[in-house]
Amino acid sequence: MKVAIVGGGWYGCHIASSLHAHGVEVALFEKNGRLFDEASGNNQFRLHQGLHYARSASTRYQSRDGYHRFVERYPKLSRTVESNIYLVPKETSLIDYDTYFSIMLSSGINLDKVPLNSIDWLNRSAFEGAIRCDERVVLTSSARAHFESRLDGLVRLHHRVTDLQVRDDKVRIDGEHFDYMIDATWGALSFHATRDQQVFYEPTLLLYYRQRGGDNVFPAVTLVDGALWSVYPTEDDRMFTLSSVTHTPLANCRSKDEAYAVLADVTSDLVARKRALMEKEVQPYMPEFLERFEFVGPQFAIKTKPRGLSENRACGVDVQGRYIGVQSGKIDNIFFANDRILGLLL
Ligand SMILES: Cc1cc2nc3c(=O)[nH]c(=O)nc-3n(C[C@H](O)[C@H](O)[C@H](O)COP(=O)(O)OP(=O)(O)OC[C@H]3O[C@@H](n4cnc5c(N)ncnc54)[C@H](O)[C@@H]3O)c2cc1C
Repeated sequence: MKVAIVGGGWYGCHIASSLHAHGVEVALFEKNGRLFDEASGNNQFRLHQGLHYARSASTRYQSRDGYHRFVERYPKLSRTVESNIYLVPKETSLIDYDTYFSIMLSSGINLDKVPLNSIDWLNRSAFEGAIRCDERVVLTSSARAHFESRLDGLVRLHHRVTDLQVRDDKVRIDGEHFDYMIDATWGALSFHATRDQQVFYEPTLLLYYRQRGGDNVFPAVTLVDGALWSVYPTEDDRMFTLSSVTHTPLANCRSKDEAYAVLADVTSDLVARKRALMEKEVQPYMPEFLERFEFVGPQFAIKTKPRGLSENRACGVDVQGRYIGVQSGKIDNIFFANDRILGLLL
């Protein structure tokens, strides 16, 4: 069996590597000059346990299970976060602290309550409560190197798939025949159009900040639930990203091409305006933010999101004959997609 995989991010690489290990002939097409060049290399790098998703049970369960599978399958591709704190603010959270805590506890996620008065960098009066939970940082440079080596000889870089024909007996990709194709482009191919009613494309801006001085590494801080923000470490434990549910999205687009066009038009003025808005948003909760962190620069990417206020980020697999489309969820949901695909093909 010969299978084409389009997209060299987390999903395409993991699935290609798994099919190859099962003896399937695979070719992985990636339009950029290296793996992990789009969302998989530009995100918050959080190995989720599900705590971000109080309103979506399927996302929580996939992340909770995927977290443990990821650590077992790729022990060298993530690292621990020394202190990972989720906080529920008093007036701006969609749900209260006890409800949040109950949802997470009943989802089988290991967590502890943290007394607010034990956190000194916080405006405690703005919060109802806090929890601590293990989550990890995905080590993207190591992941890229891992897959470059694993998939050596199978990857076709600088190859943008433009001509895709799916027939009953074969798939033709830019003139070459395959038995099946897996679309791991996170919604970039036009074949994906059938799902367009259910998803939208969001060009995103995260901001990198370096922790100033001090011996102790700052904790990861996430405010839940709703239009709030988070500060999360990267593979360099003194470098963090700041992400804001309100200000990170740059637009709401109908296609991935439209989202690329929005990114191409971003100016330094826009980044400066967004930076001011994001820092202003953090200030009431963490008044010393700018004393503790210095701005480094922006990070850009595109999310493909299902519509809906429940913030469902579960992964889905869409089968249309010999076309298998993957709607990515979070990084640790790669196992869900791969299990479905192995079940279909082997
Ligand atoms: C701002 C942001 C923050 C996020 N934070 C987190 C987080 O903290 N934790 C987490 O788990 N997830 C997070 N995510 C989600 C995570 O990044 C995605 O779930 C994951 O990277 C998707 O991987 P993928 O392989 O499906 O897509 P991608 O990484 O986008 O890969 C798709 C690939 O397809 C290629 N491609 C597209 N069209 C073609 C074509 N025609 N021919 C050939 N190649 C093509 C692209 O070049 C790209 O490399 C975040 C995403 C964003 C944008």
